Amino acid sequence: MGEKIPMVEFKDVSKIYPKMKNPAVNHISFEIDKGDFCCLIGTSGSGKTTLMRMINRMNSVTKGEVLVNGKNVKSFNPVNLRRHIGYVIQNNGLMPHMTIRDNIILVPKLLKWPKEKLAGEAQKLIQMAELPESYLDRYPTELSGGQQQRIGVVRALAANQNLILMDEPFGALDPITRESLQNLVQNLQVRLGKTIVFVTHDMDEALKLATKVVVLHDGQLIQVGTPEEILHHPANDYVKSLIGEERLSEAKYETVKVKNVMTNPIKIDLGASLPDALTMMKEHRVDTLLVVDNSDHLKGYISIDDLQRNYSNASSVSDILITKLSTVGPDEYLRDNFSRIMSRNKSYIPVIDGDNKLVGIVTRASLVNVVYQKIWGDKGHTQNNTEKEAN
Ligand code: ADP
Ligand code: MG
Repeated sequence: MGEKIPMVEFKDVSKIYPKMKNPAVNHISFEIDKGDFCCLIGTSGSGKTTLMRMINRMNSVTKGEVLVNGKNVKSFNPVNLRRHIGYVIQNNGLMPHMTIRDNIILVPKLLKWPKEKLAGEAQKLIQMAELPESYLDRYPTELSGGQQQRIGVVRALAANQNLILMDEPFGALDPITRESLQNLVQNLQVRLGKTIVFVTHDMDEALKLATKVVVLHDGQLIQVGTPEEILHHPANDYVKSLIGEERLSEAKYETVKVKNVMTNPIKIDLGASLPDALTMMKEHRVDTLLVVDNSDHLKGYISIDDLQRNYSNASSVSDILITKLSTVGPDEYLRDNFSRIMSRNKSYIPVIDGDNKLVGIVTRASLVNVVYQKIWGDKGHTQNNTEKEAN
């Protein structure tokens, strides 16, 4: 009681086609929750379409159980089940001899919507698809492939069906049209609170759209996870190859933290004398020094200009201390602080831990190294690059 019932549940599901030696789907178990955008991904023949079509009984289940809303799909009338589950395929499924208007209201009509509701539906949908209203009276062939698919997608998402299956719906579209349709489907899914099962062989598409990624290979379930989990912890080389080298090195950069690139700070004690400070600046060829107390708590910094100006009347570092300075934490992501660090007129930013203790600095030079690695890869010379300080 009170337990959440998944929208779809695969329980040890296998599919063996007649005369086929190997199962097309082999002992697969996972759940799809309400509101999930679940992408099934794998190379051609991995079993994606077979698995998805078992949800609406377009394919039968050989072994195991497929549950929709907690009920075995076998307990539903298949025609009824299919009417209540949206289905979008590559060629949009628009009827060529019907106008766009008639195509749009086809399913609502089958579901016996009242007339008043049907009339407004076509208009609502064409607006959602971001197409002119005059297109309602056109035939599908009078629209481009991308426009036809917009209609197909919107039609499926706007219908009463809470669960929608999509089989490589954007596979035939050019990259720009595909991207605009991905945005459309993503916006509508969130806005309308639908659950989507989406087959693709394009990892970029899966990582962009999915809340849950399911990786298949030769009918086997290889990995289930969020896009972040898949990207940062691919289960094996097959998953890595689907992600691609470029993506992986980008992901590596994405997860670089401040502590991974910080170096030792040049610091001076709060009570040190000005001559000591001057000596230290000369020795290290720097024009500022970070100032700490005797427990390494960061107190501020001093600059060479202030030091020279006050050399005769100030006695210790604390007299010329500037306390205003921005800092970062060691576990913050570098990507979130990049512009902050690069845009400061200082050449570094101090790193402090939770107790305000100075633990390092991030210099512009170390950032430059990270950028280099991102652009040219890091094969063979990853470590210790950050030691070479330019200032
Ligand atoms: P995907 O969608 O990942 O490309 P499919 O689910 O279409 O993979 O196919 C999985 C495996 O099942 C493939 O080896 C394919 O040849 C086989 N298969 C698919 N449909 C049938 C069928 N109707 N009869 C026999 N074998 C099939
Ligand atoms: Mg397929």
